[in-house]
Amino acid sequence: MSGPVTAKDVPPVGEVATPAPPEIEITPSRSTEVGGLPVRRALPRRTRRTVGAWCFVDHMGPVELGDGPGIAVGPHPHMGLQTVTWLLAGEVLHTDSLGSEQLIRPGQLNLMTAGHGVAHAEIGVRAPGREVHGVQLWLAQPSSTREGAAAFEHHGTLPTVELGRGAVATVVVGELGGVASPARRDTDHVGIDLDLRPSGTRENFVALRPDYEYAIVVLQGSVATGGSVIEPGHLAYLGEGRDELALSTTEPSRALLIGGRPFEEPVLMWWNFVARAQDEITDAQRSWARGDERFGVVPSSLDRIEVAAPPWAT
Ligand code: MN
Repeated sequence: MSGPVTAKDVPPVGEVATPAPPEIEITPSRSTEVGGLPVRRALPRRTRRTVGAWCFVDHMGPVELGDGPGIAVGPHPHMGLQTVTWLLAGEVLHTDSLGSEQLIRPGQLNLMTAGHGVAHAEIGVRAPGREVHGVQLWLAQPSSTREGAAAFEHHGTLPTVELGRGAVATVVVGELGGVASPARRDTDHVGIDLDLRPSGTRENFVALRPDYEYAIVVLQGSVATGGSVIEPGHLAYLGEGRDELALSTTEPSRALLIGGRPFEEPVLMWWNFVARAQDEITDAQRSWARGDERFGVVPSSLDRIEVAAPPWAT
């Protein structure tokens, strides 16, 4: 039987419904490989495309680069997005078509804004016994900047907030408790690294904004919140409407808290491009294949990464 919506479905006008606290949605990451390194792709997933403007999360390592192929991602283009590189261990050298050459170490931020077009390469620095462990995330740029100029910035130190019992939050992007990262922001979003110590049943609290949606990606150890235990290889989506996050752990743990105002523009992602329409992606792929000036030239000993035309353009 189907029937009209009744007062059991929706309260009558004037009655205030108390919203239930949102459930935590835990989705396994997809295992894939980038530049010779196994990665766990937490975003995008079929069921979850964006969290705020965050549209891509790759968790790489930890893996020792001693004898293996290491990280060697040759020159490739981006448009319409910012790349956020954040390491827990190791060193990665970034070069790009703007002329930037920047080594990044744990605790530092590399933030590249693609705008209309940029190209870059990334090489993991090898050393005996040294591991590399980190994340690379993308943020979709809004219409106001996505056709604009490319840019690159490096932040050697970032502000931190003590959470109590030895736990420390690093404000990678955005703001937490009045402490703001110096990193450029094109939308209203936040990225926080959480370094947690065993706390038994006692919890650490992180202030949230009810108008943001949030997700957690655990990078090391495990983190308990709201009756769920989150481990590496998952995206824990928290939804909107929360003003606080309570976390506990039984082992030294690292997690990334990402969030922002829900991204209202429809995002079309294909290969390394974030766009709104297929034609934009077709044009970008052709520019890269031709090697025209749009994406520029990356000084790198590695081969350029090529891609065939998108399926709708063949
Ligand atoms: Mn890239």
